[in-house]
Amino acid sequence: MELSYAPFYLKFRHPFGVSSNTRKETLSVFVKLSNGEYTGYGEACLPAYLGETESETNRFLDSAGSMLKKVAIPFTGKIPDEINRISEGNNAAKSAIDMALNDLAGKTRAKPYYEMAGIGKSEDTYTSFTIGIGDPEQLEQKIREAAGFHILKIKTGTSDDKALISLIRKFTDKPLYVDVNQGWTDKNKALDMLCWLRDQNVLLAEQPMPKEMKEEMQWLTKRSPLPTIADESVKRLKDLQRLEGSFSGINIKLMKCGGLGEAIKMIAFCRENGLKVMLGCMAESSCGTSAMAQLMGLADYVDLDAPLLYTNDPFAGISYKDGKVCLNDLPGLGVKPTNNFPNNK
Ligand code: MG
Repeated sequence: MELSYAPFYLKFRHPFGVSSNTRKETLSVFVKLSNGEYTGYGEACLPAYLGETESETNRFLDSAGSMLKKVAIPFTGKIPDEINRISEGNNAAKSAIDMALNDLAGKTRAKPYYEMAGIGKSEDTYTSFTIGIGDPEQLEQKIREAAGFHILKIKTGTSDDKALISLIRKFTDKPLYVDVNQGWTDKNKALDMLCWLRDQNVLLAEQPMPKEMKEEMQWLTKRSPLPTIADESVKRLKDLQRLEGSFSGINIKLMKCGGLGEAIKMIAFCRENGLKVMLGCMAESSCGTSAMAQLMGLADYVDLDAPLLYTNDPFAGISYKDGKVCLNDLPGLGVKPTNNFPNNK
């Protein structure tokens, strides 16, 4: 198999703000894996906060590419061990290869991934739609633009989250997910906030406190009136196994966990241990989000809105209808490059 890759900047419709930064575009490295007859695609999404750089991703892909040159393509549902062992981290790059392998395997067999993995095609599923922190004057417009979505996700962890939610409540009474992005550091105040948020029709709180504050999170989760969902605290299965009651569920993202095979193992662990499962994404295009959407039938919450945030998506894949994510019947990950994809003219 031949692996090639290229960097691509996805441009946001609105500057995208979370508690740590605001940005106008976001980098992905797209991977192509070809067996001469079919091409599989994958994506390594590299926002700065992920901590994986373009140069180390490229180095990883070069090593993986030379290994894959020698490999035929059996579908095993997981990334070959020798590629996983190239380095400890590089989960975004691993995920891109896992996607490309699964996409290619599906195309070779003329089957969607969800069939190959034995999950079946998920019903259309509601996704939350994220409203970034930005200029308060833009908030009303952003909420208006989200009219088609039934659940909004709000990035909090601001200096005055009550004011932010109160402002949102002037414009909409839709249920909300709040993503605190580790923004609260006082457990008592955090509990007060969670009680207040419950009364504001907030359904869950993602990563209320910094990942280092595990004991405080155990205390908080025990008392919280809302499910607490780990994001920054959990990348892969081994992190999930160490949560010990500090959260009531997790947000699984391909860029953190390194691929669909690991994500499926994590979901199985959650099911055995009474943890809720959210399927999330970072700033992937329709390539990475369509990969994750293959697992929708296994999730409690779906947060796969990223493709809606860009003006130059280089892929078509999942679609959105009435606030729901819809899978297609195409083989593999169900993705096709668009005219925005480099050298796809
Ligand atoms: Mg989050």
